[in-house]
Formats: sequence, structure tokens, C-alpha cells
Amino acid sequence: MNEPTIFKRIIDGEIPASIVYEDDQCLAFHDVAPQAPIHILVIPKKEIASIEHITPEDKALIGHLFIVIQTIAREQGLAEDGYRVICNCGKDGGQTVFHLHYHLMGGCNLQWPPGPAPTQENG
Ligand code: AMP
Repeated sequence: MNEPTIFKRIIDGEIPASIVYEDDQCLAFHDVAPQAPIHILVIPKKEIASIEHITPEDKALIGHLFIVIQTIAREQGLAEDGYRVICNCGKDGGQTVFHLHYHLMGGCNLQWPPGPAPTQENG
């Protein structure tokens, strides 16, 4: 059996997190290594490894996650100036924790665009 992910362990209360929102379907908590003044992760309680593992039966759940993201963004005072929601998928997408999660980031002007990670060739 696979080891539970760090996010599953947070859902199960085995390791602490700075929780900002919880309901029967999802959990939101501050990212431990914030990349913006506000950086919150929103995750389903259902174990879905990545976008690639979402199925049609998850449609309502995924919609719910976005309503929760919107609610938290408003509560955090991000609605007026805007914010970014990121979902990394798989190795090339930069995903490191294989439990579906949305990064809600804001509180500053975020740079754009992202692009290829630096390599020895492109510096
Ligand atoms: P990703 O690279 O898209 O898979 O994002 C994983 C995120 O989880 C990173 O931004 C990490 O900083 C964050 N993270 C890892 N462990 C924890 C933890 N115990 N509590 C909160 N955030 C975490």
C-alpha cells in the first residue's frame, strides 16, 4: 500500500496545518513555504492524485472547490485587486504533492508569464 501523502495526513489530523477553511468536502490551509503574501492551498478531502485523476463523478466537487476558493479570496481581501489560482499537474507541471490542490495566491502583483525551468543550456 502507498504511503499517505502529506495532505492526506493533514486531512486526518496526523500533522498540523494552519487551517483557514474546512467543510465535509474540502480543506484549506496556509502553504508552509509561501510564494506570495497570501498563499493558501485548497484541497478535496477525497484522495485524487492530480488533474489527470479527476473523473466525471468529481464534477460537483471540483465546482465546489472553486466556490470555496472564491469565498476564501474574498475573506482574505483579495477580490478587489485580484489573485491567481494554480494547479500543477505531474512532473513537468511542477507537482510535488500527489493529492489534488489549488494554490490561491495574492496580496501583491504577481509576475507573469511562467515558462520553462532554467536548464544548463538556457541558463
Ligand atoms: P505542488 O508543487 O504544486 O505540488 O505544491 C505543493 C505545495 O505544498 C508546496 O507549495 C509546498 O510548499 C506545500 N506544502 C508541502 N508540505 C506542506 C505542509 N505540511 N503544510 C502546508 N503546505 C505544504
